[in-house]
Amino acid sequence: MALFKWKLYKFPWRLKRRLDNIFTSFQLLRLTLCYNHATLSPTLIQIITKPIIVVSDFFNQQFGRACMVLVVGLMAVVNLIYVVYVLPHLYNTSKPSAVIIFFLGSWLLINTSYNYIMAVVTGPGYPPQAVENPVSVCRKCFSKKPARTHHCKTCGKCVLKMDHHCPWLNTCVGFYNQRYFFLFCFFTYGGALLVTVSTNDLFVENFYGDTLKEYPFPGAMFPLNLLYASFQGSSAKTRLLQQSNNYDRLGISETAEHKLVIFLYIISSGLAIALTFLLLATAKLISYGETTIEYQINLAQKKKLQEKNIQFKNPYHLGFNTNWKLYLGLQEVTLWSFLKEILIPSVYRPEGDGTTWRTQKFKYHFDPEKGLQVL
Ligand SMILES: [Zn+2]
Ligand SMILES: [Zn+2]
Repeated sequence: MALFKWKLYKFPWRLKRRLDNIFTSFQLLRLTLCYNHATLSPTLIQIITKPIIVVSDFFNQQFGRACMVLVVGLMAVVNLIYVVYVLPHLYNTSKPSAVIIFFLGSWLLINTSYNYIMAVVTGPGYPPQAVENPVSVCRKCFSKKPARTHHCKTCGKCVLKMDHHCPWLNTCVGFYNQRYFFLFCFFTYGGALLVTVSTNDLFVENFYGDTLKEYPFPGAMFPLNLLYASFQGSSAKTRLLQQSNNYDRLGISETAEHKLVIFLYIISSGLAIALTFLLLATAKLISYGETTIEYQINLAQKKKLQEKNIQFKNPYHLGFNTNWKLYLGLQEVTLWSFLKEILIPSVYRPEGDGTTWRTQKFKYHFDPEKGLQVL
């Protein structure tokens, strides 16, 4: 009896050991059949996932083209609505301000279109066949990678100084088109702000209308007011319906102009808010001499070195002025150079070829208490 009890007590451990052995045998069998020393992951997984990757890449490419059509279409529609509905209204209100807005808007539109086209046509730049000092070989396309080069899954290539893959451009933002991308965002931001500010009065007029005080929602939200009236009772609902008809709902004409002005304002103000964050984040990265990918890498590196009591410093951070000068490709930092190369459409010539980089030279000092210090 005592022996039986002892065996029962040991049973779960014996079962666990048996299951572990079976699992290890299967693991060994799977690796024996599928492991490929030349790759980092089992070949079977790569073979199974290959069609999924091919299909997703195909959709990414199609999605990229659709995004480009959306950007161009939206720019055309927004400008058309502005010229047809908003500009005549501004001209009737104040002729001088309408003329100023027209020229300012045209300048912003020219710069936005130019930088967008150039960012797409120029492309980010790819490593040449012969790289003098490669830092590694790409595991996906096997090309020699210079410093700051990363592989883009969507493009299927290694990209020089890759920042990110932009679906709106349908290509990566990298060494050769980084300034065009930044200026495209900058001038689009200017345009979005101009449209938002100058359309504000017209939007308020069209959105709120001559709303009766007893209804809580703006005139443009007629269905919500109707719902509110329904809860008030059938007489309130009937009264609201009597006050409105197909052409005049609480003082707002249900015309194309009314809807398009509201659409224009929502698009431009939404874009202005989104681009505020994007431009601030990009400007911060430029100021510190980092790309979006490098920011993530440097952050991880910083944490790792902090644990070893070593201070991290980005070797590509050459100081605020130099970082901006290099990013914008300015020959010299003067007002004339800024006017000529940034405010007027111009061709961007970055320093170097994107394979070698100017780096900061560091001096090290070992402090027994603070650890290794970078001076
Ligand atoms: Zn690659
Ligand atoms: Zn890409």
